Amino acid sequence: MIIVMEPKASQNNINSVVRVLENKGFKIKLNHGDIMTVIAAIGDKRLFDPNSLLSYEGVRDVKSIQEPYKLASREGKSEDTVIEFSNGVKIGGTNRPVMMVGPCSVEKDIDGLIAVAIAAKEMGCQFLRGGAFKPRTSPYDFEGLEEKALQYMAQAREKTGLLVVTEVMDRLDIPLVNEYADVFQVGARNMQNFKLLKALGKTNKPVLLKRGAAATICEFLLAAEHIMCNGNPNVILCERGIKGVDNKYSRNTMDIASIPIIKKYSHLPIIADPSHGTGRRYLIEPMSKASLIAGADGLMIEVHHDPDNASSDGAQSLNIEQFIETAKKINKLIGRIEYDKKHNISS
Ligand code: PEP
Ligand code: MN
Repeated sequence: MIIVMEPKASQNNINSVVRVLENKGFKIKLNHGDIMTVIAAIGDKRLFDPNSLLSYEGVRDVKSIQEPYKLASREGKSEDTVIEFSNGVKIGGTNRPVMMVGPCSVEKDIDGLIAVAIAAKEMGCQFLRGGAFKPRTSPYDFEGLEEKALQYMAQAREKTGLLVVTEVMDRLDIPLVNEYADVFQVGARNMQNFKLLKALGKTNKPVLLKRGAAATICEFLLAAEHIMCNGNPNVILCERGIKGVDNKYSRNTMDIASIPIIKKYSHLPIIADPSHGTGRRYLIEPMSKASLIAGADGLMIEVHHDPDNASSDGAQSLNIEQFIETAKKINKLIGRIEYDKKHNISS
């Protein structure tokens, strides 16, 4: 790390910073400029909070050189992480971008869910998504059918072979959700529920971690780090929009730049969710295409058999016909991306 001293910092001020760093095992290189001194400290800062130096007299700034996330970082692992499922589906690296589709909430009408799953399978999707435990902003809204919904998802898997992605909101529900899910989803609201992340880190099932609505990219990767440092390296990130300045025309602001940024700083796969990212059905197709071109390893899209009467998120869900039309266009693009990746053609 680099410690920048104030121009008026005394030799005593510099000495006390150097002393504390040396006591913590850092190697020090001093750089005395005409105006100010810069201290380079080389060592392991995991057991030391660099910001504590900001309270020392004469210290202007402390800058980290290394990213604070270690296991999620490309610095430690340069090749892309690829997550492989028992049926051969792979997420990440140069593999074909995956599609996870399904209703926001699993509802009583299992035939509707099955109809969505069959369409998803026919269009080449690999995953069925659907909420059994629903985090709702209002306590009066539909909160999910819980185990019944998980059973419905399992029936849809049985019928189609699609893998099941579903949210787990509470660490106490992990054993139950584990019985049915192929991927645990952590929702945006729980991105910093550290006890949940830690408990999921102790499982060996892939975790789809959604970005918190107000989380920085660094906080997002540190949330992944919580899962990884507890023993589970199988994290799939999901950009699902952040709070922007406008919520009149869209629900959130899709941070599409986060996709190539995360690819630069992390080896973890990242998918995009244009349904939650925008909140508007008509924005799903353009944002899906934009995300794939930006390098997303997959998409999560809400699809409902009757969106106008959905228990949650109908306005950002495609109906089955709309999904089929959208999937045709997305598949065309995925085909081109796959061809380019295989032939090493950079766009
Ligand atoms: C969801 O996937 O239905 C969901 C609630 O997403 P998010 O956590 O991104 O809001
Ligand atoms: Mn939803």
